[in-house]
Amino acid sequence: MNLIIMGAPGAGKGTQAELISKRENIPAISTGQILREAMREGTDLGRIAARYVESGALVPDDIVIGIVKDHLTSDACRDGFILDGFPRSVAQAEALKKTGVRIDAVLVIDVPDERIIRRMSGRQVCRCGASFHTEYLPPKVEDVCDKCGSKLFIRDDDKPETVANRLKTYHEYTEPLIDFYRREGLLVKVEGQEKVEDTTELVRQALSKAGAE
Ligand code: ADP
Ligand code: ZN
Repeated sequence: MNLIIMGAPGAGKGTQAELISKRENIPAISTGQILREAMREGTDLGRIAARYVESGALVPDDIVIGIVKDHLTSDACRDGFILDGFPRSVAQAEALKKTGVRIDAVLVIDVPDERIIRRMSGRQVCRCGASFHTEYLPPKVEDVCDKCGSKLFIRDDDKPETVANRLKTYHEYTEPLIDFYRREGLLVKVEGQEKVEDTTELVRQALSKAGAE
């Protein structure tokens, strides 16, 4: 299965991507996670990306398109993949289309802005890609990742001012992709729920109905 997951920041894309990745045994490629890793390592890419990520803006299209192309052509994606956080602009979607890589479905997790803002306070993430929430999805041991045992941290760009910018960026640049993929007949939409398991179940049903699984 070749799947794209879309949704506002904090809609639960990453969480669902991880779950599907495990279930289907295909890699989840998160451009946000790749950029954060580069920022942590202080590479050239990381230094450039930081300027945009920290303000809640999009990293320039050519940079992320390059990253995604490298991954999609790697052996790991032979049996399928999940794109989490890409494409995020019409230019990115068009670049992806141009590669000729087949996409089976585009899953949109829809969550209203008010709920997003509530959710982002309390979010904790791990360097392995797992994410938690002090209230909605607490780790078994406080501040420790269930999956790999690393210490959890709060993303710099989860502070309220940046969240507001990320939402604005989403509505302006990413939301138009919903129509783009609806026209392509690939759109599968679910309402993001309070409970992760509930969203997971809706996603499972929606994807099987769409014949993507
Ligand atoms: P979220 O969806 O919660 O905002 P991500 O981890 O997907 O989190 O992205 C974090 C940040 O990384 C974004 O705000 C943006 O600055 C940058 N980023 C991630 N993916 C892309 C992309 N496809 N194009 C441009 N910028 C991106
Ligand atoms: Zn972890």
